[in-house]
Amino acid sequence: MVNLKHIKKVLVANRGEIAIRVFRACNELGIRTVAVYSKEDLGSLHRFKADEAYLIGEDMKPIDAYLDIEGIIELAKEKNIDAIHPGYGFLSENIEFAKRCEEEGIIFIGPKSKHLDMFGDKVKAREQAVNADIPVIPGSGAVHSIEEVLTFGEKYGYPIIIKATLGGGGRGMRVVNSPEEVSEAYDRTKSEAKTAFGDDEIYVEKLLTNPKHIEVQILGDSHGDIVHLYERDCSIQRRHQKLIEVAPSLTLSDELREEICEAAVNLMRNVDYLNAGTVEFLVSEGEFYFIEVNPRVQVEHTITEMITGIDIVQTQILIADGYGLHGGEIQVPKQEDIITDGYAIQSRVTTEDPLNNFMPDTGKILAYRTGGGFGVRLDAGNGFSGAIISPHYDSLLVKVSTWAKSYEQAIMKMVRNLKEFRIRGIKTNVQFLEKVMHHKQFITGDYDTTFVDKTPGLFE
Ligand code: ADP
Repeated sequence: MVNLKHIKKVLVANRGEIAIRVFRACNELGIRTVAVYSKEDLGSLHRFKADEAYLIGEDMKPIDAYLDIEGIIELAKEKNIDAIHPGYGFLSENIEFAKRCEEEGIIFIGPKSKHLDMFGDKVKAREQAVNADIPVIPGSGAVHSIEEVLTFGEKYGYPIIIKATLGGGGRGMRVVNSPEEVSEAYDRTKSEAKTAFGDDEIYVEKLLTNPKHIEVQILGDSHGDIVHLYERDCSIQRRHQKLIEVAPSLTLSDELREEICEAAVNLMRNVDYLNAGTVEFLVSEGEFYFIEVNPRVQVEHTITEMITGIDIVQTQILIADGYGLHGGEIQVPKQEDIITDGYAIQSRVTTEDPLNNFMPDTGKILAYRTGGGFGVRLDAGNGFSGAIISPHYDSLLVKVSTWAKSYEQAIMKMVRNLKEFRIRGIKTNVQFLEKVMHHKQFITGDYDTTFVDKTPGLFE
């Protein structure tokens, strides 16, 4: 048993599958767990997977309950919590929340607030990449007028992409194909940014036409040590949001893989990064370009765990407790000894209707049966018959991850698993995911971020 010095009781300021994932890591480390839930989540699974569970934000809107910084801090103090894990989304990248934890002597299981500050803002993040000599896509700083966007378009050529500086989750982004489209796209992205992220600042990048999304998993400890756990290919996306992820990438040459992983480590070392984070790149025609850093655990961390054997969430907790990456009982080998074995694929089963523009469906799950078996991992949020899927939260129902020695076998396992699923009462994307698995381009690795949009056969 690992002997944690500071962390004996953890509160997870989140819901769904990631809350359960963190509870599991805590259980295995002998840490007591605390869940919080909104009144809409009264019957949600994460509530029952913790040692203690408390209702929060009783008078608040469903989302706001999980964003109530002072309410959560107060509860944490009252219940003698040592550390808070923020999961992803909600407060995970909130600078004020991380600072309030620091002030109250509660350990924030994540990076320092300065990292959230430099990476939450995509313009600042680009500057950090430039400082570390990492190629970035041609882009502007913050733009304040339509004219500035037009000037950028004239200089670099169309298409371009307008992005919210504080954007995330594929939202607050708009592709612009010609000068005529600039004015409307400018106004719409700005107002969307204001509504979704509370700030209407935007900037512009050249659009890469057929890129792959490749990202590198990083871990950094409080003693200045940084390692990478290789890459994930997250090019199968809908609406700029990831749907299926593969690790390692099937098409990256060893040389490029080494370069990208090294660039990611350099960037994070430069800023003295702490805890788990991901450096994201787009790769096009043998060149790679930085896009952003996600300073938190990611939905797709599972597949990296499967190919490296390293438990990322446990490591996050141990790092937060003060452990060095390679010291004592922590399980991360030295960089040169971290090797990947086989292939892992993750499919995000969502309650969305692919035949209706991936519109989220809501209601009661009447029947719920999943797959399983050797080499399969299920991370379910609210998967059980009788569960109510509300319109208030994201549509991720269960993550199915498969591992095998070969990519083909990992695909076969995924297909077999998806076939075993029976979910009734609510629409899901299970059949759509299966179609992707059978597609020749997915099988050969010959796909990029435009694959879903450009493959109408997936929707038949
Ligand atoms: P978010 O923070 O919302 O996830 P990202 O900046 O990480 O946004 O981009 C998400 C996805 O949008 C990328 O994986 C890619 O598919 C697409 N994208 C973003 N920027 C560009 C670009 N300059 N050229 C082409 N595609 C892009």
